[in-house]
Amino acid sequence: MADREFDLFVIGAGSGGVRAARFSAARGARVAIAEDRYLGGTCVNVGCIPKKLFVYASHFRDEMEDATSGFGWTLTSSSFDWPTLRDNKTREIERLNRVYEGLLRDAGVRHIEGRATLVDPHTVEVDGKRYSAENILIATGGWPTVPEIPGAELALTSNELFYLDELPHKAIIVGGGYIAVEFACIFHGLGVDVTQLYRGPLFLRGFDGDVRSHLAEQIRGRGIDLRFETNVKAIEKTDPGIRAVLTDDSKLDADLILFATGRRPNTENLGLEDVGVEFGKAGAIAVDAYSRTNVPSIWAIGDVTNRMNLTPVAIHEGVCLSETLFNDNPRSPDHEYVPAAVFSQPPVGIIGLTEEQASEKFAAIDVYRTSFRALKHTLTDGRERTLMKLIIDRATDRVVGLHMVGPEAGEIIQGFAVAIKAGATKADFDATIGVHPTSAEEFVTMRTPVGG
Ligand SMILES: Cc1cc2nc3c(=O)[nH]c(=O)nc-3n(C[C@H](O)[C@H](O)[C@H](O)COP(=O)(O)OP(=O)(O)OC[C@H]3O[C@@H](n4cnc5c(N)ncnc54)[C@H](O)[C@@H]3O)c2cc1C
Repeated sequence: MADREFDLFVIGAGSGGVRAARFSAARGARVAIAEDRYLGGTCVNVGCIPKKLFVYASHFRDEMEDATSGFGWTLTSSSFDWPTLRDNKTREIERLNRVYEGLLRDAGVRHIEGRATLVDPHTVEVDGKRYSAENILIATGGWPTVPEIPGAELALTSNELFYLDELPHKAIIVGGGYIAVEFACIFHGLGVDVTQLYRGPLFLRGFDGDVRSHLAEQIRGRGIDLRFETNVKAIEKTDPGIRAVLTDDSKLDADLILFATGRRPNTENLGLEDVGVEFGKAGAIAVDAYSRTNVPSIWAIGDVTNRMNLTPVAIHEGVCLSETLFNDNPRSPDHEYVPAAVFSQPPVGIIGLTEEQASEKFAAIDVYRTSFRALKHTLTDGRERTLMKLIIDRATDRVVGLHMVGPEAGEIIQGFAVAIKAGATKADFDATIGVHPTSAEEFVTMRTPVGG
């Protein structure tokens, strides 16, 4: 290894790349990381973190309504100032960028600013300078896709939403994935008139059917104009704003159109084809169970491999890679029972299989489901209902799926994820005493299956 400058050269300082770089350097490897945009990658700059800050901001309207409608508060006035939120968020992101810089420096990782390309299986070029490495890790993440329709350039992607000059009065959100749903709820919570369009029959494809339909009902109940089987076929500029021409030929005016219609792996112009790296489905870099590509010195983790596009998964893949390469401990990432949340209003928390997946996988399942109005809303005008669902493999009694739509679902799911990952059975759930009065206690008090 000694004649090459680095043991590991990481391309992309996002969630996965930074973790792999730091942990490898901590094991004594000589590591460099190239980043051409922002330290911390998508999650820190235009993803999870700024989004969640916006989610918090969007909740206050509800809180104020609940306070006045049922809990005796009188609020004399309230107003929202978008530039204040946007700039406070940006200040925090800049602080995090500096934290990442410090983490890399303290770990002894060499940070190289600029866009990296592959020259050969052991050489990377950044700004005309070449670096040799025993191993190269591609951790370049993903990038939003925009449909090829007339006027598409008039629409925005999630990248730009974090830096808007002003908040729109009316927004059209196109897409049915979690990012589209979250932004529809954020805008709505901040007082924007929102229409969400999705070309399929029901949004959140891949989520449990009950979760999808329950959330659609709750979101409509809040006043978001949610339309399925509808898409945009063209966008036109109007004098005050922008107009979407829909697939049924109707027209919809707005100040902003967001395309949250998917993301593609960031592989363009990296030189991957020239060194013979193979691609899998949807343009993702194909890797084996240890994140190795078909070129033995080149590895890939995170969204660029399109395995499970979540920050904690990219981080886990980075940890596994450093174990494999520098701790003599080959470790393949574990993508089973990964919990996830959609920070919609109400939020969604999930772990394990959907009812549809479980009935395909197991000979017999039991399904427990409850839907109720949370205690807090017994004093408010809120009609929102919480949904909770457990899916059990009847043969082993193991809980193989747990789903929730309701307040704090993301927080609640994390604790249950530990139990489910450890193989908890329905009998374990039944033996657990609830915390009263909470919504979460319903998960340990459901006794009668509703189907299977
Ligand atoms: C709006 C939004 C919300 C999200 N919310 C959540 C959430 O709530 N929870 C969650 O778990 N996940 C969320 N995600 C997904 C999460 O952000 C990604 O899964 C995660 O960032 C993937 O990490 P990564 O290391 O693969 O890539 P990234 O974090 O995308 O990092 C890749 C880095 O590589 C750099 N790069 C690319 N090409 C080059 C090159 N040639 N040379 C140098 N540098 C390069 C990029 O600039 C970038 O910094 C969200 C994503 C979006 C877009």
